Amino acid sequence: MNKQIYLDYNATVPLLKEVKKSLIDCMDVGPLNASSIHYYGRKGKDIIDVARTNLGKLINTNKNNIIFTGSATEAINLLFSNFNTIVVSSIEHLAVLSSSKSDHIIPVTRDGIVDLNFLETYLKKLVKNNKKTLVSVMWVNNESGVIQPIEEVVEIAKKYECLVHCDAAQALGKIKINLEEIELDFLTLSGHKIGAPTGIGALVYNDKINLTPQILGGGQEKGMRAGTENILGIRGFGEAAKIMINTKENNCSQVEVLRDFFQQKIKDYRPETIIFGEKANRVANTLLIALPQIPGDLALIKLDLESFSVSSGSACSSGKISKSHVVSSMGYDKLASNSVRFSFPPNDAILNSESLITTKELDMLARCWSNL
Ligand code: PLP
Repeated sequence: MNKQIYLDYNATVPLLKEVKKSLIDCMDVGPLNASSIHYYGRKGKDIIDVARTNLGKLINTNKNNIIFTGSATEAINLLFSNFNTIVVSSIEHLAVLSSSKSDHIIPVTRDGIVDLNFLETYLKKLVKNNKKTLVSVMWVNNESGVIQPIEEVVEIAKKYECLVHCDAAQALGKIKINLEEIELDFLTLSGHKIGAPTGIGALVYNDKINLTPQILGGGQEKGMRAGTENILGIRGFGEAAKIMINTKENNCSQVEVLRDFFQQKIKDYRPETIIFGEKANRVANTLLIALPQIPGDLALIKLDLESFSVSSGSACSSGKISKSHVVSSMGYDKLASNSVRFSFPPNDAILNSESLITTKELDMLARCWSNL
């Protein structure tokens, strides 16, 4: 059997070895319900506290402002259920677009960057009659990898007294997040994008703003998310966060070399390939491309047959490929069913903890692309 080459890290990062070990250790501790008063309950509480501390350190925020949820999607739904008016960018993940049900949509440029002039003009008109408006713009787009100008978004939103949420699911582990340096009100995160198990997310919130929970019950997570805590998920998220803290900031240079090598090979072998967001500030691990004549689903199947696991970036939960609203929003409507996403490990630490992807394999992959 051929070696499978996984290049779909933006979909999910494999459970890190160290995280897996920490989960097994945690399972060996005993029955952990953090609400219990006894020894095991206290152990459970400590595990959650350590994880919250690690995550707080990673993004430089007070751990008490972090609520663990079942996913980033849940964190976003919890937040959005508190707002009637939500302004979103056109390239947001479906977790944002579906749960906001917003028709206040800010377009992006052809490079995939949120249009700041449009945002400013839009907010100027909108907030006149609207007191409680939330602006939600993602930090890094999951399909194109384009980094959004979050500082500027915050500056504009604050000028019009809006609150700001940032979906940072694809930013964590790829770029520096320092909440002391940016005046965000809310941030949402997903554990499995940095090597924790799936099924754990977080909402980071400004505690001056009262939020109403969606899930009611035993008062866990300061009453913001009831239900006996997912201790294994939380432990995994905390351990993955610890590994990210210990890796040097923005340490993606090896990943970038691989991505850029592959991008160049694609250009050499098939020059008509369109590279989305090439001129924009992109994270080091992502490459979104298309060929005008080749549907994305066909490309994925052919690459899969050659043992390369990649993605269209726009697959829905049924696994079916839909038109990419991101590619469409960037002005490439005719290519919206053709895009294919190659996503490398988010940073060098994860690259090195996994089996390394060689330039020989990437050359083979680029040749497969050229033969589509
Ligand atoms: N936001 C972005 C940008 C994502 O890429 C994802 C997952 O793909 C999510 C939100 C949802 O994260 P979760 O799987 O934790 O619900």
